[in-house]
Amino acid sequence: MRIGAIFKSIFVVFFFYSLTSYQILEKRGCDHEIAISFDDAPMPGTSIFSGVERTEEIIKKLEEVNAPAVGIFALGIHAQREFGIERLKKYAIAGHILANHSYSHYRLGEVEAETFIEDIKRAHVLLSDLPNFRLFFRFPYLYEGDNTTQRKEVLKALADMGYREGYVTVSNFDFYINYLAVQAVKEGKKINYEKLKEIYIKILWECIDFHAEWAHKILGRAVKHVLLLHENDLAALFIGDLISLIRSKGWKIISIEDAYKDPIATIPLTTIYGYSTRIFAIGKERGLRKQEFSHFPSSCECIKKMLEEENVFF
Ligand SMILES: [Zn+2]
Repeated sequence: MRIGAIFKSIFVVFFFYSLTSYQILEKRGCDHEIAISFDDAPMPGTSIFSGVERTEEIIKKLEEVNAPAVGIFALGIHAQREFGIERLKKYAIAGHILANHSYSHYRLGEVEAETFIEDIKRAHVLLSDLPNFRLFFRFPYLYEGDNTTQRKEVLKALADMGYREGYVTVSNFDFYINYLAVQAVKEGKKINYEKLKEIYIKILWECIDFHAEWAHKILGRAVKHVLLLHENDLAALFIGDLISLIRSKGWKIISIEDAYKDPIATIPLTTIYGYSTRIFAIGKERGLRKQEFSHFPSSCECIKKMLEEENVFF
């Protein structure tokens, strides 16, 4: 009886100790850090915003929620359009970080490594003198080549130029929802912006949660995440609300440079991967098969259906 009571006390103490350590960990936000990044900037104007309006709107929304430096992954071909360089400078002046996303947005494999490297250099010439430019390179389509020789060649050229990889850990469908909204306006439809915001934020949060869970399974520890977004109209409309929602879930928004200090940035990867995140690349390296992690929380069909059911475009 006495022995039973002692065991019971030990169990109770241990249970509460574990609970407290978990809560402390939660409070510190160790597992809940994420940086924001925007690809393909400065994207051309659409039926919703002109390019200049959109850039100003994104900067304003980020300022309103006091967001730390985001990563602006610039595309040379867009930067050369009217006001392109000015728009990138506006981000830099607002304290955000500019980085290289190539000139032409080639998919490595669709062109040879040599052409791909020349294209990176072409963007570098255009962007590297801009304020707040940092040597991070993000592969277009997050695609790192069809074979290891090709990939090695590009990674060596990047290292020779002093570049580090501007990887992501959370991918999603922001480009697709944005495409549907722009199409709807083009077709003369109206938008229920409240509903659109709700759905956009819901889907993005599900994606963050999904990737965070996988990061835990694969690495068994806390990771500084990098969210992939595009410099598009929905970002201009809802980035402030998205950041507030992320914070309300107990997460901390960190700067892009802080995120790339995570040790996952330097884990050597030898296998080929594409259209994917750094976490899944590490998973693949450690023997995880693609089928095991391909169940995304959403899909293009499912998003389209959700928008139709809610009568978002009418
Ligand atoms: Zn891109």
